[in-house]
Amino acid sequence: MKCERGEEWQKGELRPYGNLELSPSAAVLNYGQGLFEGLKAYRTSDGRILLFRPEENALRMLDGADRLSMPAPPVDVFVNAVKQTVLANERWIPPAGKGSLYIRPLLLGSGAVLGLAPAPEYSFIIYVSPVGNYFKGGLAPIDLKVDDYYHRAAPGGTGGVKTIGNYAPVLKTQLSAKGKGYSDVLYLDAVENKYVEEVSSCNIFIVKDNKISTPELRGTILPGITRKSIIELARNFGYEVEERLVSVDDVMGADEVFCTGTAVVVNPVGSVTYDDKRVKYKNAGLGGVAQQLYTALTDIQMGKAEDKLGWVVQLA
Ligand code: PMP
Repeated sequence: MKCERGEEWQKGELRPYGNLELSPSAAVLNYGQGLFEGLKAYRTSDGRILLFRPEENALRMLDGADRLSMPAPPVDVFVNAVKQTVLANERWIPPAGKGSLYIRPLLLGSGAVLGLAPAPEYSFIIYVSPVGNYFKGGLAPIDLKVDDYYHRAAPGGTGGVKTIGNYAPVLKTQLSAKGKGYSDVLYLDAVENKYVEEVSSCNIFIVKDNKISTPELRGTILPGITRKSIIELARNFGYEVEERLVSVDDVMGADEVFCTGTAVVVNPVGSVTYDDKRVKYKNAGLGGVAQQLYTALTDIQMGKAEDKLGWVVQLA
């Protein structure tokens, strides 16, 4: 689907998966004017196909588009395009309980521009792929390494939106952590180097004395849709949930730590390493708060529990 700057979005089309044709001077290639989203479609055991809160992804893309000075499809256009793409790829949706169809909407400044300026033309593209569990071992505790040298986002930057440029700085740190046997990196704030922000592609929560805390949104953390949903579910379970500054010491002293995201869903953290100190969490894995919230969330996403909060969109 294409849009000239200042004009309406043109009608889209379904195409077989293939390469794109882009000018070498496309704004996305030269200036990183690009956003993406990620959501999943699940097949239920009684044969329905469900999307989870797709309008939230549309709204987040609109927010990011504003930050990057680009037009984005309105919510209904976004959600309809996702629905059509999923239905056209129905055969790729794994059977109930065997995974999901990952949906990747992209918004690119695809028009050519030589000097630094927003693109004259934009492309909205959606591709899909069947996926299993993000971390090897499914709901198995992961091991995080705190990085206090490289940062993901700076105040006033673009950390709060899902722009492609946020992920390039993560590649090196993530690769290095994985090379040392960790599952992923936990980033700190760029000013005081003391407050945890998020993991490469998921948000972080801690539990201390049955109270749940997660870093507050202050423009350097992606406002995760899973984060928002987990906060609501946890409050419905009666937990006190605080959005606040969470220091690395809070994390090291927590009873339980877990991360949330579309890809990882809810994943317990088994250990966090900061400098040479490694803390292992007793409550990681089965029986903890993460497990309880994981079950509650996935039951809604997979159509096993009643959708009391109106989060699920049924396609077929
Ligand atoms: N933080 C980052 C940096 C991410 O890339 C993601 C994945 N979109 C998240 C958090 C989690 O967001 P969501 O729950 O919307 O998938």
